[in-house]
Amino acid sequence: MDFIRYAEQSAALLNTELPDVDALVAHLAGREWLHAQATDRDCMLLRKFQRELRPVFEASAADDQRGVVDGLNDLMVRHPVTPRISDHDPGDLHLHVAARSASVAELLVGEALLGLATLVCDLGPSRLGTCAASPCTHVYVDTSPNASRRYCSERCSSRANVAAYRARRKAAQPA
Ligand SMILES: [Zn+2]
Ligand SMILES: [Zn+2]
Repeated sequence: MDFIRYAEQSAALLNTELPDVDALVAHLAGREWLHAQATDRDCMLLRKFQRELRPVFEASAADDQRGVVDGLNDLMVRHPVTPRISDHDPGDLHLHVAARSASVAELLVGEALLGLATLVCDLGPSRLGTCAASPCTHVYVDTSPNASRRYCSERCSSRANVAAYRARRKAAQPA
């Protein structure tokens, strides 16, 4: 498993609206083997998990280290992760975050929590954030070398830059 990628996917999971199975299947693009398993119950559980996980990103954005650590630890108690060694490729033994019988929701929750916990241990507790381009409320994971990320996407970054440029031009104009 690639923990950084799982951490980044957890941000994508929070940024995705999951009203129904179609939306969940769309979120699982590239993981076609999971599509047939996805149910309404998974969507319901994942919507609940989105509400539980958002405060961890908000705590990180507010430099609240305790909030990040306690928040993730609490979530790992509430959603126990069951790792297993997978040998679907016998030449490349690796960890999966959930038992073979796990539901789609259990799998995505396990990946998100282990990914974020590893990221926080490796890169520190301040690498999660909420987009600075209001009114966007998306979250992001900052894996940039100098921890300089402020926006959820290129789109929001350029929108904010254009707005700042307009504001500067307006301020520079004589009244
Ligand atoms: Zn595998
Ligand atoms: Zn944004």
